[in-house]
Amino acid sequence: MFDLLIRGGMLIDGAGGAARRADVGVNGAVIADVGDLHGQDAATVIDADGLTVTPGFVDTHAHSDGSLLVDGQEAHALRQGVTTQIITQDGMGFAPLTHERYAEYAGYLAGILGEPPLELDMSSIAAMRRNYDGKATNVAVLVPHGALRLAVAGFADRPLRGELLDRARALVAQGMAEGAHGLSTGLSYYPQSYSDTDELVALAEVVRDHGGVYVTHVRNHNNERAPEGSGVIEAMTIGRRSGVAVHVSHYKTNAPNAGEIAELVAPIDAAKREGVDVTVECYPYAANSTVPGYFLRGEFHEGGPDALLTRLADPGLRPAMIDSLRTLFPGALERACWSHVASAANADLPGMAFVDVAAARGVSVEEMVLDVMREERLACGFRSIPPASAALTRAVEADAIALLLRDDYTLGSDGIPTGAMPHPRAWGSFARVIGPLRRRHDAPLEALVHALATRPARRFGLTGRGTIEPGAFADLVAMDAPRVHDLATYEDPKQHPTGIEHVVVNGQIAVRDGQSTGVMAGRVV
Ligand SMILES: [Zn+2]
Repeated sequence: MFDLLIRGGMLIDGAGGAARRADVGVNGAVIADVGDLHGQDAATVIDADGLTVTPGFVDTHAHSDGSLLVDGQEAHALRQGVTTQIITQDGMGFAPLTHERYAEYAGYLAGILGEPPLELDMSSIAAMRRNYDGKATNVAVLVPHGALRLAVAGFADRPLRGELLDRARALVAQGMAEGAHGLSTGLSYYPQSYSDTDELVALAEVVRDHGGVYVTHVRNHNNERAPEGSGVIEAMTIGRRSGVAVHVSHYKTNAPNAGEIAELVAPIDAAKREGVDVTVECYPYAANSTVPGYFLRGEFHEGGPDALLTRLADPGLRPAMIDSLRTLFPGALERACWSHVASAANADLPGMAFVDVAAARGVSVEEMVLDVMREERLACGFRSIPPASAALTRAVEADAIALLLRDDYTLGSDGIPTGAMPHPRAWGSFARVIGPLRRRHDAPLEALVHALATRPARRFGLTGRGTIEPGAFADLVAMDAPRVHDLATYEDPKQHPTGIEHVVVNGQIAVRDGQSTGVMAGRVV
């Protein structure tokens, strides 16, 4: 007698072997038996005849930190078969911070992480983890480098040395001991980009000692602080010098370098040949998304959000800020649209191109962006406009499939589930890969399941997850594989996919017949 029996499906267990017909029996949160369970009873039976049963997917890059705290059921990931989200990405996360620092940093990050309740205890990684227990999906956390730097040095532009570095290293050690799976950094965001390679090596050594992963959005601010001025070379250098396992976030082609994956992965493969332990991650879209502060050099972020808001209000600083917007990532503003604003007064902006908003306001694009940042008190975000050429989009998608079929890539959605018009990657990345892109490129589902479930679970030490075998946690998906299709588009991004019929999290049915059940059996893992 099982609590739950998934009967008659074609099983892909994640190890990479071919699909086979097998039943899955579950007791409590755990898989009890796998095979021909014909004639066995269960309290609940899911008829998976005609469906493919796989381990739940692991999103290795999710910005659900705020949204999960507002609505633990937030279903964009779950409905794609994601049963574990790794949050606190790009060095952004809410612990370990005092109440004051948490409120300050949450405000600064609102364009990406939304607006979480501020009365929560975020004073340690252990406290933060408790806040994420009992959501619809499992949640795993890293020690976020941004919060770490805030805790020891505030928004100060200096690499950590001496006593400050010692305190930061102690906080990494404490966070790892309290259940973090590694350290994340985003070296285009502040205060993370105020670091240098020596600081990062010193922090990575602590991560290495605890068997964790150094997860990095590679530097493209203050590049003179990186070896050869290259963010990816810096990441590989940190792996080589510290001996830490490195995971490179959203390292993919975009429209300008579509099709050039050999050049893209050359530094990765060179480091691997030297013995550096590297995994990598991508998502299947030709557009990106972040906050407009990304276009402002470090000097404008110094002192934190209040100081930045004061600078935004200072006419004397406008020319220098406009120069930063024009020169840091040339041409980017002309290919961007608003995805999120916090205020009702600007509710018409999400979905509108920067150039159109600027024209309507009768100001330059740069002035408009700075004005909106000020009006929204930084709680605004944008995404890039995808290339007009379908051929370029398809080339980027082909690259994503080719990368996922390597032995070192995972899928990190980079989903930002906040705002009125978010990038569709939050609602569509996993379904797009499993559905239309798999079919277009005739990619083996077994290999993709390994890349989307098993490989990330192993990489991040998610013990007992990403596999279907007796004793493993019952994180399971039953999909109608030919019918899996993402429906999230740039114009209508908050659409759940078709074809993901049932999702089980820790033995509890979280999605049944394609609908959320409301059950929140996720654990902090
Ligand atoms: Zn990200």
